[in-house]
Amino acid sequence: SHRIRVAIAGYGNLGRGVEAALAQNPDMRLVGVFSRREPSSVKLLDSSTPVYAMADIEQYQDDVDVMILCGGSKSDLPEQGPYLAKFFNTVDSFDTHAKVPEYYEALDQSARDAGRVAMLSVGWDPGLFSLNRLYGEAILPEGETYTFWGKGLSQGHSDAVRRVPGVQSAVQYTLPSENAMARVRAGEQPELSTREKHTRECFVVLAEGADADVVRESIVSMPDYFADYDTVVNFIDQETFKTEHSSMPHGGFVIRSGNTGVNTKQTIEYSLALGSNPEFTSSVLVAYARAVHRLARLNDIGAKTVFDIAPGLLSPKSPAQLRKELL
Ligand code: NAP
Repeated sequence: SHRIRVAIAGYGNLGRGVEAALAQNPDMRLVGVFSRREPSSVKLLDSSTPVYAMADIEQYQDDVDVMILCGGSKSDLPEQGPYLAKFFNTVDSFDTHAKVPEYYEALDQSARDAGRVAMLSVGWDPGLFSLNRLYGEAILPEGETYTFWGKGLSQGHSDAVRRVPGVQSAVQYTLPSENAMARVRAGEQPELSTREKHTRECFVVLAEGADADVVRESIVSMPDYFADYDTVVNFIDQETFKTEHSSMPHGGFVIRSGNTGVNTKQTIEYSLALGSNPEFTSSVLVAYARAVHRLARLNDIGAKTVFDIAPGLLSPKSPAQLRKELL
């Protein structure tokens, strides 16, 4: 078969989403899942797909065209990304914006040494939102770009809260300010501080014996994630957590408000309304895995971001078909 052979490294929400997305893309097939957990304990959607130990992953380098990395951004990807780029063409959804430059360098080094492609920070933000920020700036050089998130559950931030000692379960919601959105859409080009645009709200179940004040303080002061926002931390019990906080919706807006000619107002708005953040992010990862495979075949190696990928490479359709049907 000429289908692109894809594997998954790390099986959480994103891993499950990638498995589901691959089933919707007939030019690709899932050859296996790698996990740090005991393989027999990892239950896939399709039980006929093999699960392997992450420790054995190097043995499979000739069997996989693209490895989709589904580990967490905070502590999994900084280790797994540069390591796996030595053996596979990779794509991941690294979303710690402040650490992108150093992560890029580490991946680029590994991937170039090994002659591989390592694509980082794919998803919706970073990812599709980043592209829309770029289009807005390039097309309307005089203006302002605004990104609003939510209301929604942020994977990266929930992940970070869950790693705080004393936290048993946690979710984090980001809320856009309605007032700020209205001013931007009206073309006011307001100067909005980080705090004015969004607030963050956490729902936390404490581990037994944990001190709520200590946990709250470690959350709200966390650099890169919470320190620059107004954050409310609510403590709830496990039952409430389960009934009220188990779906993972998200979404948001990228708005470029600019001027052309003699003060003509122009607005570009891109929005996403997502029923499931991980399932959507995984669908983006899978489309970019196709592009990674194509770059690898062209020997266009090294670390890549969404800015480096021509849109046609995402589609299973041929360039001629795209010109005919979509241009
Ligand atoms: P997750 O469910 O916590 O999974 C992360 C890792 O934890 C998995 O790879 C898995 O590794 C391990 N794991 C999962 N379930 C486990 C369990 N029951 N017990 C023990 N270990 C378990 O995280 P996620 O929701 O998939 O999100 C991953 C990352 O995606 C986030 O950190 C975020 O940065 C990123 N993200 C990016 C975007 C974007 O737009 N760019 C959007 C959403 C998310 P093993 O299988 O090896 O154990």
